[in-house]
Amino acid sequence: MNVRQLSKLIGIACLALTSQIAGQDENDYRHLRKKMIENQIVSRGVTDESVLSVMSDIPRHLFIDESQWSIAYSDGPLPIGHGQTISQPYIVAFMTELLQPDSHHVVLEIGTGSGYQAAVLAKLVHHVFTIEIVPELGRSAQKTLKRLGYENVSVRIGDGYKGWPKEAPFDRIILTAAPEEVPKALVDQLKPGGRMVLPVGPRWWGQDLLVIEKDLTGEVIEKKTLPVRFVPMVHEKERKN
Ligand code: SAH
Repeated sequence: MNVRQLSKLIGIACLALTSQIAGQDENDYRHLRKKMIENQIVSRGVTDESVLSVMSDIPRHLFIDESQWSIAYSDGPLPIGHGQTISQPYIVAFMTELLQPDSHHVVLEIGTGSGYQAAVLAKLVHHVFTIEIVPELGRSAQKTLKRLGYENVSVRIGDGYKGWPKEAPFDRIILTAAPEEVPKALVDQLKPGGRMVLPVGPRWWGQDLLVIEKDLTGEVIEKKTLPVRFVPMVHEKERKN
């Protein structure tokens, strides 16, 4: 065997080893996701099979920085840069279940962040429109979603308080940052018969997760579910200061 053949052989061996390691990693992550579903989500009462199935499949680690991959499936929120976080897996599951998504729904999300919640919804509904106020986060989420093949998500950089009037009304609206009061413009962009899930309350503490239902006559009913702690939904003028 000459040097050329030998180096080719070594190359092939290295490639086989790398793909074996990658396959092994993928199995490890699949196992961690299974444990996450059982120990963090089912154990706390989420029963919607479609939500559980989608979250068992989506590689949550690919939505965060590689330095955090080892804790990607842990029971808490994780930093995604710019002082923001990706929500705890249980909260993502609980909010998605509360939203009662259906395959024909058009959904508006405020607070794209890493893009993970948008990816979960994208597997369950017709289309997700999502707005992020931090340009770097919005762009990075858009890239991740594209790379992973999500074609039914539209990301926009902008102020979520205004909603997305051109695409309204929405069947469902979800907020993953907490305003101090329910934003009226968003309730106006909800379809009669629609549902909205959002954290509301003072900055950093004392927030409640609300479900808002708009009936077919346009009347709005509000229900409190859990006490929660989300990053604040900021106003555009605060970001410019
Ligand atoms: N859904 C995200 C969690 C994001 S945390 C995920 O799955 O990773 C909340 C996000 O809301 C942050 O990225 C924050 O920058 C964004 N945000 C805060 N105020 C906003 C506003 N007014 N409009 C749009 N996004 C906002």
